[in-house]
Amino acid sequence: MAGKERLVVIGGVAAGMSAASSARRLRPEMEVTVLEKDKYISYGACSLPYYISDEIKDIKSLLALTPESAEKERGIKVNTRHEAFSVDKNNKEVVAKDLENEKEARFPYDKLVLATGGLPIVPKLPGVDLKNIFTIRTLGDGLAIKGYTDEEQPERAVIVGGGYIGMEMSESLRKRGLKVTVLEKMDRVLGTMDEEIIKVVEGKLADEGVKLYKETTVEGFEGKAGAVDKVVTDGGTFGTDFVLLAVGVRPNTLLAQGLGIELGARGAIAVDEHLCTNVPDIYAAGDCAESLHLVTCKKVYIPLGTTANKQGRVAGENAAGLESVFEGIVGSAVTKVFDLEVARTGLTTLEAEKEGYDHFSSTIQGWSRSRAYPAGKPVTVTYVVERGSGRLLGAQMVGEEGVAHRIDTLAAALYSRMTVDEVARLDLAYAPPFASVWDPILIAANVALKKLKNGS
Ligand SMILES: Cc1cc2nc3c(=O)[nH]c(=O)nc-3n(C[C@H](O)[C@H](O)[C@H](O)COP(=O)(O)OP(=O)(O)OC[C@H]3O[C@@H](n4cnc5c(N)ncnc54)[C@H](O)[C@@H]3O)c2cc1C
Repeated sequence: MAGKERLVVIGGVAAGMSAASSARRLRPEMEVTVLEKDKYISYGACSLPYYISDEIKDIKSLLALTPESAEKERGIKVNTRHEAFSVDKNNKEVVAKDLENEKEARFPYDKLVLATGGLPIVPKLPGVDLKNIFTIRTLGDGLAIKGYTDEEQPERAVIVGGGYIGMEMSESLRKRGLKVTVLEKMDRVLGTMDEEIIKVVEGKLADEGVKLYKETTVEGFEGKAGAVDKVVTDGGTFGTDFVLLAVGVRPNTLLAQGLGIELGARGAIAVDEHLCTNVPDIYAAGDCAESLHLVTCKKVYIPLGTTANKQGRVAGENAAGLESVFEGIVGSAVTKVFDLEVARTGLTTLEAEKEGYDHFSSTIQGWSRSRAYPAGKPVTVTYVVERGSGRLLGAQMVGEEGVAHRIDTLAAALYSRMTVDEVARLDLAYAPPFASVWDPILIAANVALKKLKNGS
C-alpha cells in the first residue's frame, strides 16, 4: 500500500501556516511538514509597530500558533530553525539545514508549497552595515528594535521611506518619545496616493512633531564607534541615534529560481489562479508570489498579510486535491497614522494614468456620523473614475473615524466592476451614530456622477 501523501511547506508565517492548516483540514490523513528557518512561526508582523510603541504589551499575543500548538491542534509537524536550501524536483525532496547543528536533512514531498515571503529592501549604500540601522520584517526584527529603544533610550530616529510601514513606525517611535524624521525620495508619503488624501496625512505628521523631508534621497550613513550617527542625503545631513530602513519589500525567490520556476510581476513567483507554479506539484503563496489585479487584469506584486493568508489557504486546498481558485486582489489597504485612518482600494490617479485609463478624479468631504450626533469627524473621499463608462477604478479615504471599514464597501464595488452610478444607488445602512443619511460613499459617488455627466 502506498504511504501517506506528503505536503511540505517552506515558510511558517501567514501564507505557509495557512497552506498547512487548510491542507490538513481538508485531508486529515495528509502528512504536513513546515520548514521555517526562524525561531517563530505564525505571527502577526502587522502588529509589530504597536508592540514597539508599548500599546501591545505581550509579544506572545502576536503568535497565533507555536510549533507545539500547530502539532497538537492541527497535526502539522513544524521544524523551526530549518532552512531549506535546495529542492531536488526529480526525486521530490527538499534539502534543508538544521541551523542548530548544521546537519542536513531531507524532506520528501508529493506536493510542495513555497511560502518564503518577502525580504526588506536594503539599499547598497555606504555605511548601511553600521550598528543601529534596522529593518522591520520579522518578529526578531521587532524584538531587536524594542530591545534597542528600551535599553539604549535613543532620542532621535530617522526613518528612511514614507510608505505605510514608515508611517506606522513614525507614530510608534513618537509614542516612545523619540524625535522622528522621515526621509522620502518621492514628492509625497504613502506612495502613489492622491494629493487631497496625502495633504491630510502630511498635516497630521506635522501636528505630531514628525519632521518630513520629501524629494530627499539618502546617499549613505556615517557613524561613530561603529554605530550610525548621521544620515547623508542629497539635501543635507541628519544627526541620529537610530535608523529604520523602510523602503519596501522584495519577493524572496532564491529557492524558486534554483528550481527553474518562472518569475512574474516585479520578480515575484509567477502563479496561475490555482497558485500553481510552472513546475508540477509546486505551489507558491504570499509575499513571494504575484497576484492578479482585478481592476487592470494584470499581474502585480502587492505584498500584504491579508493576501498571504488567502493565497496560503487556496494553495493548501489545491495541494490537498481541491480545485480552489484565488481570483485576485483589488489593492485594498489601510493604515493608521496617529489618529488618522488612511485607506485605499483599486487604482490611485497616478496609477490610472500609468495604466493608460482615460479617467478623472473627484474628491469630497463627508462626515463620519450624522451632523446632529456628537463627535463626528470629517472623512475625505477621492474616487478615480473611468471617463465614458463611469466605472469606478479606485477609491481612497482619510479621516479619524469610519474610514477603515467604509473602504471595504468600495473594494466590493471594484470586484463587481461597478460604475459610480451604481455605487450612488447602493442601499447602505444608516443611523446617526454611524453615518450621515447620505453616507460619504454615496456623496462621493453622486459628485463623481455629476462630473461624469458634465464631461469632466
Ligand atoms: C511592520 C509591518 C506591518 C505590516 N502591516 C500590515 C497590515 O497592516 N496589513 C497587511 O495586510 N499586511 C501588513 N504587513 C505585511 C504582512 O506582514 C506580510 O504580507 C505577511 O507577513 C506575508 O506573509 P508570508 O507568509 O507570505 O511571508 P513572511 O511573513 O515573509 O514569511 C515567510 C517565512 O518564510 C521563511 N523562509 C524564507 N525562506 C526560507 C527557507 N529557505 N527555508 C525556511 N524558511 C524560509 C522566513 O523565515 C519567513 O519566516 C506588515 C508587515 C510589516 C513588516
